[in-house]
Amino acid sequence: MQTWIPESRQFAYLTWKQVEALDKQRTLLVLPTAAIEQHGHHLPLATDTLINNLLLGKALDKLPAEAPVYALPNFCYGKSNEHIGFPGTLALSASTFMAVIRDIGASVKASGFHRVCLYNTHGGNTALDDVMARDLRAEFGLRTFYLSGAAGARAIGINEQERAYGFHAAEWETSLMLAATPELVRSDQYTVNYIAQIDNPKLLLPEFAPATFSWLTRDIAPSGVMGDPTPATAENGAKWIAAAATKVAAALQAMLDFEELV
Ligand SMILES: [Zn+2]
Repeated sequence: MQTWIPESRQFAYLTWKQVEALDKQRTLLVLPTAAIEQHGHHLPLATDTLINNLLLGKALDKLPAEAPVYALPNFCYGKSNEHIGFPGTLALSASTFMAVIRDIGASVKASGFHRVCLYNTHGGNTALDDVMARDLRAEFGLRTFYLSGAAGARAIGINEQERAYGFHAAEWETSLMLAATPELVRSDQYTVNYIAQIDNPKLLLPEFAPATFSWLTRDIAPSGVMGDPTPATAENGAKWIAAAATKVAAALQAMLDFEELV
């Protein structure tokens, strides 16, 4: 799997003697969580994993060389059962996903580490990462953090309809992929599908409404796309990658500098 994470930040490239010598109280280990799942007709199954490697790698490039931050190998299988029925989706159950995170947390604790960040780029994992960040705190006393996607960086130039309802294989993801791995984007295969319109708010929608119904992608998006990839450009993708990397780097630095409240 392609990665932009520098070799000097790859936890798995260390020897055990190098790990033993690290400052365990301060060193921050980042566990990327992503997915292998359908991304419409035009993007590869690995989109969320590649975007994770990309944004985390670009963020790690921005940290001072002496900042003790390492990326654990990407945990690329996610809770993707919303995309079941589309060939190629490889989904873990919630219990399996949480058990793996728990076991990695146990190993990290046994190695003497204290600070762990779950960095997530797949929406289906969000609730589970939130649960596990708290469970690792409670069970092992780890100082855990959660961080997702662009870490709040705003995608300048995206329209409000797309900002609200372009959340899967749509303009943002497609632009990032056009900038980073254009050879993996089938730009003649775009499909457009909005699950709702911002100028027609309703009480009950699949997402972002006062009441929601639980959906599978096949219920609401026959092509697998939720949003509109057609305006995607590599130029915007490069800008959004840079903005996200700055925010992700700042968040990681804040985790390194974090002091307990009491
Ligand atoms: Zn995605």
